[in-house]
Amino acid sequence: MERVLGIDLGTTNTCVAIVEEGVPTVIPNRGGYKTTPSMVAITEAGKRLVGHIAKRQAITNAENTVYAAKRLIGRKWTSPQVKNAVSTASYKIVEGPHGDVRLVLRDKTYSVAEISAMILQEAKIFAEDYLNEPVTKAVITVPAYFNDNQRQATKDAGAIAGLDVIRIINEPTAAALAYGFGKNVDKVIAVFDLGGGTFDISVLEISSSGVFKVIATAGDTFLGGEDFDGRVIDWLVEGFKEQHQVDLRQDRMALQRLKDAAEKAKCELSGVAETEINLPFIISSGRNDALHLQRTLTRAKLNELCEDLVERCIEICRQTLEDARLEKDEIEEVILVGGMTRMPAVQDSVTKFFGREPCKGVHPDEVVGLGAAVQGAALVDESREMILLDVTPHALGIMTFGSKFEELIPKNTTVPTSRSKIFTTSRDNQTAVKILVMQGDSEKATDNELLGEFILTGLRRAPKGQVEIEVNFEINSDGIVSVSAKDLETGQAQSIQVTASSGLTKDEVKAMMDNAKDFLVEARTNDEFEGVKQEAEKFVTEIEKMFPQVEAVVASSDFGREAIGKARSILEKTRDAIAKRESAVVKEQMEALARTHRMFKGVVSRPH
Ligand code: AMP
Repeated sequence: MERVLGIDLGTTNTCVAIVEEGVPTVIPNRGGYKTTPSMVAITEAGKRLVGHIAKRQAITNAENTVYAAKRLIGRKWTSPQVKNAVSTASYKIVEGPHGDVRLVLRDKTYSVAEISAMILQEAKIFAEDYLNEPVTKAVITVPAYFNDNQRQATKDAGAIAGLDVIRIINEPTAAALAYGFGKNVDKVIAVFDLGGGTFDISVLEISSSGVFKVIATAGDTFLGGEDFDGRVIDWLVEGFKEQHQVDLRQDRMALQRLKDAAEKAKCELSGVAETEINLPFIISSGRNDALHLQRTLTRAKLNELCEDLVERCIEICRQTLEDARLEKDEIEEVILVGGMTRMPAVQDSVTKFFGREPCKGVHPDEVVGLGAAVQGAALVDESREMILLDVTPHALGIMTFGSKFEELIPKNTTVPTSRSKIFTTSRDNQTAVKILVMQGDSEKATDNELLGEFILTGLRRAPKGQVEIEVNFEINSDGIVSVSAKDLETGQAQSIQVTASSGLTKDEVKAMMDNAKDFLVEARTNDEFEGVKQEAEKFVTEIEKMFPQVEAVVASSDFGREAIGKARSILEKTRDAIAKRESAVVKEQMEALARTHRMFKGVVSRPH
């Protein structure tokens, strides 16, 4: 049986695992480490470095070393996250040809997926070395809150690295899989995941029969360890400014050293109460003498600097429990994931909020990769009874006439799923409709988030409400959303894969909504008619198809001719009633249609 790698492609670190003889196991990298820094660098000689070796040279080659690429993957150039990264990253970020993001290293431009692919390729190589056999399949994890573009780009990265990504799963779900593996328990658990770049909280129900059902999930793709580092950097920069009137932010190299020192101090403070930050020769004062940075940071000060960040995580937990309609004491286990959960202040807040100590049995850096491996093994081995039921974090729907939000897929619906609804034109002779795909939980479309739009053109001219458009939403097992619209009469269709949610400014969204006003659809009031119509039309089409053959067989007898005449009149009546949208009349014809259909079928199938 083919082996499948489980890969936790983290913002800061990547962890690779596999199920070996039934046991999920982490694969160490070439240096023997169980996690690999998610860093890529290009040296002066044009050599590509990945992982620890890239991290080690980051200070002296800051401009050509990429870290935290996960924060950029699948994002639009105009998104606030990218804007922020452009001003703080030590490497160069530029706009790509499709409004996307590119990275420039030594004059060569790379897509973010290409950079992530380099990390994945490294993972593939050391995994193959370890296993002594080629591996091509992988399950990769992403934060539950990743939108479709981000998921798609992660899949692309896998493909570039020569991996067949057989499934994308959410990180908290993976953690639950690793936790529940082989335990045979029925429990409601919460997975609290604070990593380098993102925060996620998920509530799941795990059962001894192997079903893992996500009840609710939420998060913030812009809240993680780097924000904690940022607070320490700010504190150091401000202190230095007061002392020397020099702004360290002006110097990329100094900033990179500060970044490293801040993160190191933060991590140390998880174990000790205070630590020294020492950066000799951090910058020149301009008068030919170098300045040094030396400060003591206490755990209490760090907690104070980061208090609101921790509180933001807790607030999201509160909201998620509310969404799941659960009380805190109904959560039977709390699992901590991500390096940042080693910070005592984070652990204390989680313990206080849930009223219980988090589970100690899982390794926060490895649990997600292990869970991905468990899922990978289950996907290729049908004998493993395991069902994974993930959910959509928000309601999905479209904007209809009057700025109403018409929901197609409710929030926290189990995926994969697909839902259709029929809409109609909202004006006379409307020949085009614009489908505004939205995400959110308000009935007012303008309060929700616009994910994308597309136009279906070439509709026949007809009074309002008479052209029918079927809108279909589909979410696959990777969480990727596709939306299509079809003119039910002509069969003409348009579709999109939903694009990034955060790439548009509020004004841009408003303008898009305003521009769409004349092209919107309306929810169909007459749904009952629709059902009857579809059924009747099916009979009509089939009877028409059989007509010539039946006529040829029975036309020689009076009885036959009479039957043919009756059938004709039934068809005519039905077509007429459908055109006039007379639901009751169509219904009346239904029995006669069914009878005729049966009789025709009998004639056609009889040997002659
Ligand atoms: P992850 O994305 O799960 O690899 O988490 C990485 C984040 O965890 C980074 O921001 C690290 O600085 C942080 N981290 C790792 N170890 C510790 C520690 N002992 N104390 C506090 N933060 C840590």
